[in-house]
Order: sequence, then structure tokens, then C-alpha cells
Amino acid sequence: MKTVGLLGGMSWESTAGYYKAINEGVKNSLGGLHSAKIAMYSVDFDPIEKLQHEGNWEETANILTSAAKNVEASGADFLLICTNTMHKVAPVIEKSISIPILHIADATAEVLVKKGIKTVGLLGTAFTMEQDFYKGRLEDKYSLEVLTPNKKDRMIIHDVIYKELCLGVISEFSKKEYLRIIESLSNNGAQAVILGCTEIGMLVHQKDTEVILLDTTSIHAQKAVEYAIN
Ligand code: GLU
Repeated sequence: MKTVGLLGGMSWESTAGYYKAINEGVKNSLGGLHSAKIAMYSVDFDPIEKLQHEGNWEETANILTSAAKNVEASGADFLLICTNTMHKVAPVIEKSISIPILHIADATAEVLVKKGIKTVGLLGTAFTMEQDFYKGRLEDKYSLEVLTPNKKDRMIIHDVIYKELCLGVISEFSKKEYLRIIESLSNNGAQAVILGCTEIGMLVHQKDTEVILLDTTSIHAQKAVEYAIN
């Protein structure tokens, strides 16, 4: 079994979900007392969040590159960056390490392609919903049509992520707002909606809606399990 490398802490609330999902996946596949071999580096998210909102991606890349090198030095065979947003700097990190990065957007797109979905809604931070590193990758590499909420709703999604979910706060009001936005993406033609932020799965679940949801945390974790075992 390969050793999974996790670059976590963004936020730790979702990294805890990765840790659990990867171990459960290995246990389900191998049985008995099997558990995942994991090397993790968990960063302090506060300075990273500040740098993101200042637009200082170069410095976030420096912090994450040094963390990724630590993960590699700890024996990881491949790396998961446990956040959609910070895949913005994945190309920089990739250049400084020799182990592969399993890209969260690729893992998600593969599921969409398998399901025959062509038009998909995307929820995530404003960075993920508005910039090319994620939305553009889905469009260019996988020919998907990606729908995002209107500006006002994008702000709601973004603020709930940073002011509630990353702090472990689960609010019924925010859940209703998310479900309203998911519904409106579906009414606009989305055949499924990507929960493109690793904390959203803490708030909305498949049982809450008829719209097909793709939780990037569980998809990414499952991909890691398959890669580690095969
Ligand atoms: N975990 C989140 C994501 O998947 C947001 C936190 C961050 O900015 O990294 O995008």
C-alpha cells in the first residue's frame, strides 16, 4: 500500500473529514484492522486566509511548497492538497516536489464524465467559482459547461465558508440558503452540483435535495484510497 500525503489545515475541519474518509475507504477495501498509511502536514490557516484575501498568492505558494516538501520527506508517495481553493497554486507546488499531486478537480471531473454529466453547477469560494484555475480546468480539459450562482449568491456561499464552516459552525439558515442556490442552479440547467469546497459537505447532504451533489472531499479521499491500494 502506498503512503497518502495530505496537505491539510485548510481548514482543519475538512481535513478531519479526509482523515476519516481515507481510513474508512482502506478499511472497506482491505478489511480487518487495515488502515491508511498517511503522512500529513497541517498548516495554520489564519495567515493563509489573510494572504488569499490580500491576493498574495505567491506567499501562500511559498508556505504550501515548504509544507509539501515536508510531506514528501515524511515518506508520502503522492500528495492531496485538501482544499479546492489552494489548487490555484498547485502548479507551483508541483515543480518543487517529485511525488505526484492528485488534483481535486480532475478527480471530480472523472466522476462527472463517468455519469455522462455535461452541465454542472459549481459552489466554492469566490476564488474557485470565479477564477480559471478550477472552473477553466473543468471547461478546457473535460469540455464541461460550468454554471455558477449570481454575484449576490456567490457572496453568500463564500462568506458562509469562511465565517461559519471553517470555524465548525453549522447553521440551519445557511443550509436553507445553500439549498435554495443549489435548486436555482438546477433550474438553470445544471444536471449536478459540485460541492467545490471541502467544508460544504458538513452543511448539505445528498438526502437534503433531489439534485445530484458531488462532494469533492469524499471524491478526493476515495481517489486517494484507490491510488494507494492499486
Ligand atoms: N476548504 C476550502 C476549499 O476547498 C476553503 C478554504 C480555503 O480557502 O482553502 O476551497
